[in-house]
Amino acid sequence: MNVIKGIPAAPGIAIGTGFLYSPSQLIPSRQHIQVVDTEINRLQDALSTAEKELEEIYQNALESAGQEAAEIFEAHLVMLKDPDLLESVEQTIRTEQINADAAFYEASETYAEMLENLSDEYLRARAADIRDVASRVIRILGGEEVQQTLLTRPSIIIAEDLAPSDTIKFDRAYTLGFFTAQGGTTSHTAILSRALGIPAIVGAGQLPDSTSSLILDGDNGQLIIDPDEETLSEYQQRQQLLDKKLDDERQSSKKPAVTLDGKQVEVVANIGNLEDARNAIDHGAEGVGLFRTEFSYLEHSSLPNEEDLVQVYQDIFRTFGSFPVVVRTLDIGGDKEIPHLKLPSETNPFLGHRGIRLCLSRPDLFKPQLRAILRAGVGCNLCIMFPMIATVGEVRQARKMLEECAAELESENLAYNPRPQIGIMIEVPSAVICADQLAQEVDFFSIGTNDLTQYTMAVDRTNAKVTYLVSAMQPAVLRLIKQVIDHGHQAGIWVGMCGEMAGEPLAIPILLGFGLDEFSMNPPAIPQAKEIIRRWDTEQARTLAEQALLCETPEEVEALVQNWLDGNKQ
Ligand code: PEP
Ligand code: MG
Repeated sequence: MNVIKGIPAAPGIAIGTGFLYSPSQLIPSRQHIQVVDTEINRLQDALSTAEKELEEIYQNALESAGQEAAEIFEAHLVMLKDPDLLESVEQTIRTEQINADAAFYEASETYAEMLENLSDEYLRARAADIRDVASRVIRILGGEEVQQTLLTRPSIIIAEDLAPSDTIKFDRAYTLGFFTAQGGTTSHTAILSRALGIPAIVGAGQLPDSTSSLILDGDNGQLIIDPDEETLSEYQQRQQLLDKKLDDERQSSKKPAVTLDGKQVEVVANIGNLEDARNAIDHGAEGVGLFRTEFSYLEHSSLPNEEDLVQVYQDIFRTFGSFPVVVRTLDIGGDKEIPHLKLPSETNPFLGHRGIRLCLSRPDLFKPQLRAILRAGVGCNLCIMFPMIATVGEVRQARKMLEECAAELESENLAYNPRPQIGIMIEVPSAVICADQLAQEVDFFSIGTNDLTQYTMAVDRTNAKVTYLVSAMQPAVLRLIKQVIDHGHQAGIWVGMCGEMAGEPLAIPILLGFGLDEFSMNPPAIPQAKEIIRRWDTEQARTLAEQALLCETPEEVEALVQNWLDGNKQ
């Protein structure tokens, strides 16, 4: 019996034989061509064949794995038509007189490498999508048909790496699990296998040397090779129990989070795109507490225009029906870069021209976004939130720009949402200190503990050497959070939290005790957060929160909550 460890990517247990999948990779070589126009026509033909193939895959994915999975291939269609990518390919063909295959390969590799160098894990993983699209076009240019991979019996798919279109093409009835040596939690093998409900492990670093008898444990990220009888029967029992538990959890995540004494607490999601939105609904989100709008700018190789944004926002808003959606306006700078904006580099980007500061000085960037949000928000429960607010003056300026946009839309006879709620992120210490004044200017606050911790503790949130200070459980940060909630409530506005802390199991009871109104987190954290809230009584949580405020270290705070939990269990 041998065990390989990897990253748990989709929960569940698969027991069976492995199917080793190793598609050949096409790397076209540069060839000189005589007639440029013929080559461009060849490219156009290949693009339209690729479009047809992708439309078919999109439909199949929609039927077999649902909207979230299908969106991946919709995104591939968008990439296939990316005007900047195509322009660069055409230009290379024309200026260097080389074959379309090599030109497409080189342009897509440049784009994929740019994504791979970004700090955001999700965007880094999108490099695999670009490569998937590119290999489709290159295969078609080379005159090859789609390779069918026929599974003849139920199998665990074993591969070095899987492109999204590889992952979806296996017959679901015969696919027990996925195991890849490469990839991370935001890779599409991970996303698709979760959507398909198929257990998966990614990023294991190696492949098994035998595939005749395997157990794939997607919860713990381990692949057991040639298990003995005892292990096998233990896992068969676990598989049955797990199936039942997953089913129960999914059912109860759709129900509201109500404390023991009957207080209903809003549990909503942090999202960045439509895929996240679908995922949020699947996990029981009652709306969105943070829609990070940077992704629409990062996913394109040029600035999206107002119409593009209206489309993206409308699709997302509609997913949530009458649930509230808090849209955060563009927050770039710091660790979030948009390479094609070509902003000057700064010595201290986290303390620099980021978030609302940049937007207020760039109406050409800010106003199309505000107009798009207002237009897409017609008939929705729309909340607009400004990031990185440090002063009352900034809120007033941002609101003024928003009012100008509404007035423009009115005079242009374009439909828009006339009454969104307006809020701000509280993530800069000055905003906490002046929270009483800021509360007079807005309808809500949302606490961004990621940045609030960074600025309060004076630690760069991306610097591994100082991570020991990056905890929202630091007494200094806890006190600030309490102040913000109190000031918000005194002014009669609601206070939410969209920093990572809102989804942390040990923090939730304390925040409940502080009286936080809305908890916003990554979708997978929602079912557990709801379960935790259901186990507490608000008075009990208030007592716990008072004790937490007396602690001197984050470890003490965590031990305190853990003790309560252990006590409650007895
Ligand atoms: C935060 O700072 O807590 C936050 C939610 O914003 P971001 O992580 O996008 O900076
Ligand atoms: Mg922030």
